[in-house]
Amino acid sequence: MPFAATVLTLYPQMFPGPLGESLAGRALAQGEWSCEAVQIRDFATDRHRTVDDTPAGGGAGMVLKADVLARAVDSVRDGRPVLAMTPRGTPITQTRIRQIAAGSGVVLLCGRFEGFDERLFEARPFIEQVSLGDIVLSGGEPAALAILDACIRLLPGVMGAPESGTEESFESGLLEYPQYTRPQEWEGRTIPEVLRSGDHAKIAAWRQSMSERDTRSRRPDLWERYCDARVRPASGARHTARDQDQ
Ligand code: SAH
Repeated sequence: MPFAATVLTLYPQMFPGPLGESLAGRALAQGEWSCEAVQIRDFATDRHRTVDDTPAGGGAGMVLKADVLARAVDSVRDGRPVLAMTPRGTPITQTRIRQIAAGSGVVLLCGRFEGFDERLFEARPFIEQVSLGDIVLSGGEPAALAILDACIRLLPGVMGAPESGTEESFESGLLEYPQYTRPQEWEGRTIPEVLRSGDHAKIAAWRQSMSERDTRSRRPDLWERYCDARVRPASGARHTARDQDQ
């Protein structure tokens, strides 16, 4: 069974969009995943097909109506995870992406304007509120595209070499090491000597130390979690990342 993606959106023409190209596009054409975009407005019941209204308590913008959203969600619900795109959500992680990619598919709910009537989440507690990160988009569609892209590249057979999916940033709890390619010298800069040594153990050790260096300086949050994971459950581990840290 192909991975089934359903997107609830006011802009269905944005899908598959960029996911119709390249790796994801090829996989779509080969039937390895499917992409259904559902118009939220089709679930409005009044003559004007209203999907939004002014915020209770006042303030700028418009809020998407709970009844319309609930009808849209209920119409496609079949046991797949349902994710609502919102900057108020839990930041999506590679771990969650892996779980979703291993399942039968996903339903992605895209907001617009000021977002969703909160009662949607009270009445439909299975909806996961997820964020792409601490940025504010104008709509949930780019977040849905990003999450779908991350799932699709993990589907069996979609990426050429299976191992190229396992050494990436985050998969080990660290950022990936820096990469280089030919030419050996460019604008007076050379590729680190160790990468030309052919000594695989030395290369692996260098890459590990670069991953640790960059994670520590760029992502103290990841670094702390990585250190904790190595210190606590690793019974009898003598060398930990935290040891090197001090
Ligand atoms: N007023 C809201 C922002 C609304 S932005 C707030 O401050 O929380 C409009 C829509 O864009 C949201 O409903 C959501 O679907 C989407 N969106 C914006 N930023 C996002 C993010 N970081 N992650 C996921 N979706 C986002």
